[in-house]
Amino acid sequence: MAEHAHSERFDSQMFIGGQWVDAVSGATFDSINPATGAVIATVPRGDVNDVGRAVAAARDAFDSGRWGQATSERERSRLLFAIAEEVRRERDALAELEVLDCGKLLADARADIDEVAFMFEYYAGWATKLAGDIPPVGPHAMSLIVNEPVGVCGLIVPWNYPMLMAAQKVAPALAAGCTVVLKPAEQTPLTALRLASIVERVGVPAGVFNVVTGFGVEAGEPMLTDPRVDKISFTGSLAVGRHIQRTCADQLKRVTLELGGKSPNIIYADASLAEAISGTCSGVFGNQGEVCSAGSLVLVERSIYENVISQLAEVASEIRLGSGLDPDVTMGPLVSSAQRDRVQGYVASAPSDGARCLYAGDLPSDPRLTEGFFVPPSIWEVDDLAPRIAREEIFGPVMTVTPFESVDDAIRLGNSTEYGLAAAIWTSDIKKALTTARAIRAGVVWVNDSQPAPSESMWGGYKQSGVGRELGPYALDAYLEKKHIYINLS
Ligand code: ADP
Repeated sequence: MAEHAHSERFDSQMFIGGQWVDAVSGATFDSINPATGAVIATVPRGDVNDVGRAVAAARDAFDSGRWGQATSERERSRLLFAIAEEVRRERDALAELEVLDCGKLLADARADIDEVAFMFEYYAGWATKLAGDIPPVGPHAMSLIVNEPVGVCGLIVPWNYPMLMAAQKVAPALAAGCTVVLKPAEQTPLTALRLASIVERVGVPAGVFNVVTGFGVEAGEPMLTDPRVDKISFTGSLAVGRHIQRTCADQLKRVTLELGGKSPNIIYADASLAEAISGTCSGVFGNQGEVCSAGSLVLVERSIYENVISQLAEVASEIRLGSGLDPDVTMGPLVSSAQRDRVQGYVASAPSDGARCLYAGDLPSDPRLTEGFFVPPSIWEVDDLAPRIAREEIFGPVMTVTPFESVDDAIRLGNSTEYGLAAAIWTSDIKKALTTARAIRAGVVWVNDSQPAPSESMWGGYKQSGVGRELGPYALDAYLEKKHIYINLS
């Protein structure tokens, strides 16, 4: 479907305590289609007063037992399955809305929404399986270890996978029996609001799930300091993550942080090259490079270096920029003008910082897209990892390439980043694969692949990439407290 066919608006109120409401202040802000710069929705600009209402609703739903300990696990499970079913029913509309709000490709958005539905099914299953433990403590006593929901959770999510990141937190939190206040990114509030209408429709009790739209400092920050919030789960930048950790320390709020990355992508000479080249390119340029685990630090064994860089440039040259709704397009716009300017800033300073340009693509030629926030893909050669583009997270379609001499050298370079989210290793030698995978200090390591993150598995970072783990059963730990009940039998 062509971009200009969309004059439709997606204006919405926000969802607090089972009601659709405006901000107390009456303020609003616009959501923009990044491919065209057009306003597609106006939504409430929440602040401390709206967060206060949402937290009160979530607290009341939790404390009164409308969810959590006094709701049966079967009922929670049934409602999560019902949410999944509605997400599947609305799949195409949700995917299109995601494209219009954040700029990604329609096929990728559909895959996101499919995973959102699966995520709710997966955690619907877990809701009835959060068994505790009975450790032996001798003949005269009995110890019961029981899982209990942590309470009211503030869930703060970014704009690169808006609905998927929301589901990644909402589904395990609700399965665990928590009540939530979801704060979508200001750039991409629309699918979170659609999720609210689904939650309402399937009959989740009022106050269990709330959405406050708005900006980080106005609508996110108040959740950090409100004593009625027990837990913050955040996905976003390192700077904001550090601030959240510090602020939450005062009340000892539980915190899960999924932050940035500068993930090494190591290509050994014995790799299957066709796979390695295409996987490396999609691991950096997929989702316009707006991926926290993008394998943008490409390290290539010296003996194949020249061959690899020319093939990487060739694959990159086939990328076609445009609207994510156009089926011929293979890279969409960045999410906002601010993000475009940030990425362009990195690219502009790269030559003077010691990086050599190996490839730079073109902007889209369609005149309807001149107001869009496009940045063409580029590939840069760096001899060491001193230039900023080889050290800092860019969150755009920018790849650096550096040769290495040996396994030790690859590991040293791969571990030189302050981050530790992910790494990709391309080799046909199982020993080399496992030696490197064990030595890299990162939470996720792909061998002969880049970026898959099945909901049943695990996600999370070492070092500056975060605190805690998401996905799989691991995410549930973030929303549970464990209690020891000791019974004297003597
Ligand atoms: P990015 O730089 O990728 O936009 P951010 O870390 O700034 O990432 O934003 C991720 C999420 O965190 C967004 O929902 C944003 O509104 C929110 N946020 C930003 N600043 C704060 C803050 N001080 N307190 C709470 N949430 C914040």
